[in-house]
Amino acid sequence: MAKTKYVYFFGNGDAEGDETMRPLLGGKGANLAQMAKAPLSLPVPPGFTISIDVCQEYYKLGKKYPAGLDAEVEKYLAKLEKAMGKKLGDEKDPLLVSVRSGAAESMPGMMDTILNLGLNDKSVEGLAKKTNNPRFAWDAYRRFIQMYGNVAMGVDHDKFEEIIAEVKSHRGIKEDTELTAEELQEIVSKYKVMYKKEKGEAFPQDPKKQMWGAIGAVFGSWMNERAIVYRKLNNIDERVIKGTAVTVMAMVFGNMGDTSGTGVAFSRDPSTGENHFMAEYLINAQGEDVVAGIRTPMDISALEKQQPKIFAEITKIRNRLEKHYHDMQDMEFTVQEGKLYMLQCRNGKRTGAAAVKMAVDMVKEKLITKETALTRVKPDQLDQLLHPQFEAKALKAATPLAEALNASPGAGAGQIVFTAEEAVEWHKNGKKVMLVRKETSPDDIAGMYVAEGILTSTGGRTSHAAVVARGMGTPCVCGCAAVVFSGKDEVTIGNKVFKKGDTISIDGSTGRVYAGLIPVTPASVSGDLETFLSWADEVRAKSVRKTPSGKVVKGFNVLANAEQNEAPQAFRFGAAGIGLCRTEHMFFDEPKLTSFQKMIISDSTEERKKNLDKILPLQQKDFFGIIKTMEGRAVTIRLLDPPLNEFIQAKTDAEAQSLAKKLDVDVAVIKAKFADLDEHNPMLGHRGCRLAITYPEIYEMQVEAIALATAEAEKKGIKHDVRIMIPNVTTVNELKQIREQAEAVIAKVNKEKGTKLKFQIGSMIEFPRAAATADQIAEYADFFSFGTNDLTQTTFGFSRDDYSKFIDSYLDQKVLLQDPFKTLDEDGVGVMIGLAEEKGRAVKSDLHLGICGEHGGDPASIELCYKLGLNYVSCSPFRVPAARLAGAQAVIKANAKPAAKKAPAKKATAKKATAKKEVKASAKKATAKKAVKAPAKKATAKKATAKKTSKK
Ligand code: PEP
Ligand code: MG
Repeated sequence: MAKTKYVYFFGNGDAEGDETMRPLLGGKGANLAQMAKAPLSLPVPPGFTISIDVCQEYYKLGKKYPAGLDAEVEKYLAKLEKAMGKKLGDEKDPLLVSVRSGAAESMPGMMDTILNLGLNDKSVEGLAKKTNNPRFAWDAYRRFIQMYGNVAMGVDHDKFEEIIAEVKSHRGIKEDTELTAEELQEIVSKYKVMYKKEKGEAFPQDPKKQMWGAIGAVFGSWMNERAIVYRKLNNIDERVIKGTAVTVMAMVFGNMGDTSGTGVAFSRDPSTGENHFMAEYLINAQGEDVVAGIRTPMDISALEKQQPKIFAEITKIRNRLEKHYHDMQDMEFTVQEGKLYMLQCRNGKRTGAAAVKMAVDMVKEKLITKETALTRVKPDQLDQLLHPQFEAKALKAATPLAEALNASPGAGAGQIVFTAEEAVEWHKNGKKVMLVRKETSPDDIAGMYVAEGILTSTGGRTSHAAVVARGMGTPCVCGCAAVVFSGKDEVTIGNKVFKKGDTISIDGSTGRVYAGLIPVTPASVSGDLETFLSWADEVRAKSVRKTPSGKVVKGFNVLANAEQNEAPQAFRFGAAGIGLCRTEHMFFDEPKLTSFQKMIISDSTEERKKNLDKILPLQQKDFFGIIKTMEGRAVTIRLLDPPLNEFIQAKTDAEAQSLAKKLDVDVAVIKAKFADLDEHNPMLGHRGCRLAITYPEIYEMQVEAIALATAEAEKKGIKHDVRIMIPNVTTVNELKQIREQAEAVIAKVNKEKGTKLKFQIGSMIEFPRAAATADQIAEYADFFSFGTNDLTQTTFGFSRDDYSKFIDSYLDQKVLLQDPFKTLDEDGVGVMIGLAEEKGRAVKSDLHLGICGEHGGDPASIELCYKLGLNYVSCSPFRVPAARLAGAQAVIKANAKPAAKKAPAKKATAKKATAKKEVKASAKKATAKKAVKAPAKKATAKKATAKKTSKK
């Protein structure tokens, strides 16, 4: 058997790997290899990459390396030494290396890197002599001890910083760059003493030992807390992205004086998407200085003046790389004494707004196709474009306290906190927070995630705070020199002092900071986003696929779940109609609520009808409003669904008294009715169409209101496409009976109004029995809409109101890999949908199918709905733009696969494989760290959750 290859070389104009090898070499390793070799042939310092396979083996073997790795690394180190003409640890002219992490999907700043490795007490002297630059040599050594000590050996970072601060304050200087060679030497001595005290042994002097220590630290960082949290927050699936590679590469030095420096560049603006080169550069500095936000770098235009040759070269590389990768590139480079080196390139992270703009621009530039453009934006990123903006009037009246870098767009306001821990704590207590810091570090990620905005006093557009905030879609203003930390829990912004808990507002689009809370307004779909989403609509409209049951289905629509107040928003966000109008939501405002409550407490049919008659014109008005708003698009109105006890709340005496007063009846009547309506399990109780079997007059009133509203629209020449939907159908006889009653009411209205209205009458499929008897139900249904909230509840037997008590344990222990109320469960609920599709369309081959549960806005669920042959998804209005895109992506993905793979494999073997995976995953639970929980994401996500969990 051929020996497994673990290590891959790059450099000297050639490489063993290339960009296609990301799963093995990680993004960094694969792209370094690609850049090093033809046709790009860019200046890349040589090095080698230890593959991700080793990372997997390392964890499988209990943090030990696979046999043969050491010999292979030795061989490649020798090759690297030969390429550089220097040896690791050489006392006169040492080779120094960096040891860097890199997974197949970029996780900026989440894993570890160690620079300047190979220095020790002897080689530092050699380096000083050889370079004739003792200051540089001692700076490199003190950086190495600090990084290695912290990252590989776990010595607290602050302990190093305290020593530097002490030496600087002794000399009365502010910047690290002002330290002399002698002072850096003094710092090194102090570091070593402190290190020995902390670790009980001297700082390692053997460069090979250092190298293996660093390799172990980088592999170890795959499982550090922040990397785990990052993967969780960004839905990075560890079964797909399996670990990190380790790249060992020759160091080049940006800290060798004023003709040296280090930069981070984006080929287009990652914040706005503008097609201009956006780069930042720090003279006489090393890599991490830019990213860490310790010093605020200069704009690349300054480099153009200072080193025009380098500027021209990096600009040329920018253009080459964009053409090669057909995407915006994020690059790291170093200039060593006037010579440029590329240290990294990758597809750059970007805001939602930038992602859309770049996608649209690149299609116009003929760099990519529309289909590729549609895959360049994650559906969730669109949320960011729909972020609220400050109200124009309020903004005009506000005076900015300060203005700095507009690092991540959107408007945010919150109470000031100074640490990530405080942010998390305050957020838990329901507060909106603004994280104000000098700079942020990867350890702050949980706090950054919950903040409404981030404001930092140092750091540029490529600092950690800026990059991470953009990824999260959180507004961020960076490098704000007007922010001065003036005392404990106190900050001065401009000339105003703020204490912890005071409120400020920031505008990440303009970089402005304001005192107090400025109100916000919602955004709408326009400009590039409109163009982009129109492409998504085109792709979905043109789509054709075969369902697992063999039926051919054309098109895939996105509708919205909306009532009268949300319908305008649904229309603005491009919904093709309303897939679910929950009529019960229309009873919550007065005077409908009182009449409805009076109807519920009525003793006789007569009295019930009397109260229903009062509601009828009000419902009719609401329905008419929705029909008018939707301008002829489908409006699917669901008849009453929730248990009646939700309208009669009288748990306490006070509640009963107040309701009795309002309804003008004796309190005993209310108490008796409350007791009568009380159910042990209301979600499986007297609700949905069961109410209409007992009280047909309720649905009759609703159908009459629908028919009258439609007749009114017809008379006024307003286009209409109204459909009636019956919830909670378990048996065909329910539907048959209700349909007959509804048709009688419609006939009556037609007669009265002289119209010939016809309505599609459909059934919700919310229970396994409904799915199993879908052929019978289809006889009386013009369409099916899958109510996957209830279908999930009844397929799993998990109460949708109570499952939150245990779902976190299930997810943490990987008993379930996804929350089934968020992402459709393919193996169970998906099978129910597939069964209903097959049985329903066996009776009516063109039966229209859709989904209106919360899953209708979830990208993975949308993909499954497409595969299962549904005609549409329906979700809350704020999720409509993302669903329009996710639907198009599902089409593109399905078309990219060979036909045989399109249908989801439902065979026994496929199921077995999944079952095995789940068991395996759950066995791994012991090693899985309890990661910080992903707090519910803001704005739209919160709205969706609120709706889902609001009592029926
Ligand atoms: C469903 O069950 O998925 C549904 C849409 O109905 P509701 O959430 O109103 O019960
Ligand atoms: Mg339901």
